[in-house]
Amino acid sequence: MRVGQGYDVHRLVKGRPLILGGVNIPYPKGLDGHSDADALIHAVMDALLGAAGLGDIGQNFPDSDSRFAGISSILLLRETHRLITEAGWETVNIDATVVAQRPKLAGYKKQMADNIARALETDAANVNVKATTEEGLGFTGTGRAVSAHAVCLLKHI
Ligand code: MG
Repeated sequence: MRVGQGYDVHRLVKGRPLILGGVNIPYPKGLDGHSDADALIHAVMDALLGAAGLGDIGQNFPDSDSRFAGISSILLLRETHRLITEAGWETVNIDATVVAQRPKLAGYKKQMADNIARALETDAANVNVKATTEEGLGFTGTGRAVSAHAVCLLKHI
């Protein structure tokens, strides 16, 4: 068994869709980045890559690569699943937290977890997504960004 941890932040800007955990959430702003900037999926990917000893998202999916421009991060998560499977690992569980002052994410957590589980070909019960605020403090609290933390446990196939 191996544990992994991931963290990501993307700025909230006008003129972008807000996509978190593969869910398109109605909101006047969205996350800025090279891909769809899905901070939750990126944190999960880094946790998985870390647990498998496969480096990080930046080295596996460089933002200098035009193939990844605007790409759905769910597709990148599927590719991460392929990499960790090839390396002999399977997901035991994932626990993640999205930090956003707004919008309220409680109604989307289940759908986010289901999307992650499907991409990883694991049972939905193995993925838990939580949402919290930082009480108006810092860059998430003032609505400038959304961040996400994730931990995962992998077992050898
Ligand atoms: Mg990112």
